[in-house]
Amino acid sequence: MGVVVQKYGGSSLADAQGVKRVAQRIVATKKLGHDVCVVVSAMGDTTDELRDLAEQISPLPPARELDMLLTAGERISMALLAMAIANLGQTARSFTGSQAGVITDSAHGRAKIIDITPGRIESALAAGDVAIVAGFQGVSMDTKDVTTLGRGASDTTAVALAAALAADVCEIYTDVDGIFTADPRIVPAARRIDHASYEEMLEMCACGAKVLHLRSVEYARTHDIPIHVRSSFSDRPGTWVDNRSEVEPVEQAIVTGVAHDRSESKITVAGVPDKVGEAARLFEALADAGINIDMIVQNIPAPGGTSTDISFTLPRVDGQTAMEALARLQPEVGFEQLLYDDRVGKVSLVGAGMRTHPGVTARFFAALAAAGVNVEMISTSEIRISVIVDEDQVDAAVASAHHAFDLDAAEVEAVVYGGTGR
Ligand code: ADP
Ligand code: ASP
Ligand code: MG
Repeated sequence: MGVVVQKYGGSSLADAQGVKRVAQRIVATKKLGHDVCVVVSAMGDTTDELRDLAEQISPLPPARELDMLLTAGERISMALLAMAIANLGQTARSFTGSQAGVITDSAHGRAKIIDITPGRIESALAAGDVAIVAGFQGVSMDTKDVTTLGRGASDTTAVALAAALAADVCEIYTDVDGIFTADPRIVPAARRIDHASYEEMLEMCACGAKVLHLRSVEYARTHDIPIHVRSSFSDRPGTWVDNRSEVEPVEQAIVTGVAHDRSESKITVAGVPDKVGEAARLFEALADAGINIDMIVQNIPAPGGTSTDISFTLPRVDGQTAMEALARLQPEVGFEQLLYDDRVGKVSLVGAGMRTHPGVTARFFAALAAAGVNVEMISTSEIRISVIVDEDQVDAAVASAHHAFDLDAAEVEAVVYGGTGR
């Protein structure tokens, strides 16, 4: 029997009862004869609570210290879980990301994994112990400081360890029964997806389906690790994300699902002189500030006009930095006004079958119109259409698109077992 990596999210470890329940699942897997490496998230909303606490001390805490603080959440989980497993008569040892050999770059809060040297994990597994690793953290190769990999990144720790340990599978345990055609929290009629390709999941996750961390899917695809997303509260079959559709091509559904994202905001630079190079200057300033831009729309100047408006979306957390960077350019570029709107949401339709089926856009827009949703911006890729809408209309837009593409389940199968959705 090979190595199995299991990751348990915060909602599965919300309280002492949850920790004990998870311990039983782990011991059951171990008894089947597998070597088990477990990755844990912080209990419940601990990471958010630690962040809030830091904010009460300092509005802009030093990034190194914030990372040091946030990694504590996962350390609490790992130690408690090791105790719970020991109570069941199974030996277990917990390790911080650093002890587990998760080596990263030094970008605090969004560090990238450079290498994994899991010597201590391998020794623990060889000794018959369950190895428990604190998710979402590592140690910088250069500075030797503790780093975090970004919100939701315990999934990525798990997949990276699965690759390093040549595991058969990476199991992601969460508070829903797998990946659904839409977030079960807002579409009760969402349907469980049996199998998804890496490509489809990359789009779903990039569009806000937070059930898997985007980088975990990228990592799994590069290293060909099958991901099995399941609930830790049930024994239902869950969703497989793997390369099966590439190996044995199957008839693809036109639409895999509808994703939504409330973490972006929109900036409009009004009255930009319609001259070569002006847009480049604006976006260079944003790039220099380390800000990722998502959608961009530039209007054509009004007839006889000499200026234009440029709107784009960006992560809400970068809103203030972006506005400051652009304001500094105003005298030089000579635009009229900067407008900021964080009451927006993004709704995306994702499906590999879109490549070969015409009419998907028309049907999507008809569904949005039927729900009375006004579209502010549009962007597309080969297998995705995204729109920006008013934040209050996100739920209606998702439900209407889900229904229009016949994704609604005949009987409600989407159960949300825990979590606060925070
Ligand atoms: P964990 O604490 O286990 O990491 P997360 O909150 O990060 O859990 O991810 C699980 C949540 O993802 C679900 O509770 C659900 O609300 C949300 N979600 C969003 N889109 C989807 C989707 N398409 N399928 C399943 N869950 C989704
Ligand atoms: N605890 C971290 C977070 O809340 C990492 C994770 O849960 O994956 O973002
Ligand atoms: Mg998560």
